[in-house]
Amino acid sequence: MERPLRHPAETSRAHFACFDCRKAFKQRGSSHWDSQVPERTYPCPGCQRPMARLGRHFKVPPQRARRQWLKTELLYRYGERFQSSRSGLGTTCRTLASAVGYLTTPARSTAEVRETLEQIRTSHQQSSDGSRREG
Ligand SMILES: [Zn+2]
Repeated sequence: MERPLRHPAETSRAHFACFDCRKAFKQRGSSHWDSQVPERTYPCPGCQRPMARLGRHFKVPPQRARRQWLKTELLYRYGERFQSSRSGLGTTCRTLASAVGYLTTPARSTAEVRETLEQIRTSHQQSSDGSRREG
C-alpha cells in the first residue's frame, strides 16, 4: 500500500559493508534504477578492501555486535543481498543460530553451513583484537 508509484528517477542507496572492520556506509548514487548502468565497487575507508554491496533493507549492526556481523557475512556468502523487505529476513534470521537454520536446506547440511561459518570466524580472528563477546 505504501509502495511508491513507479518512480525510476531516484537512484536507490545501497549499503556497502566491510566485514573486517564491521562498518557499513551508504553510498549515494551507488546503484541505479537502470540495470544497464554497471554497479560500482567501493573500497573500505578503513582497510581499503572492496566492500560488500548490500541492499537497502540491510540493517547495520553495532560495530561490537560480532555475532550479528558474522550472521550477515554468512548470509552474504550464501547469496543474500538484503534487497527485499518481503523476505522477512530480519525476523527469520534474528540470531546467528537461526540464520544457520535458515540456510540449511535439503541440499545443504547444517554441518556445511557451520563449516562456512567457522571459515568466516577464523578469517577474522587473524585481525582480531582478542576480545570475544558471546551472546
Ligand atoms: Zn574495512
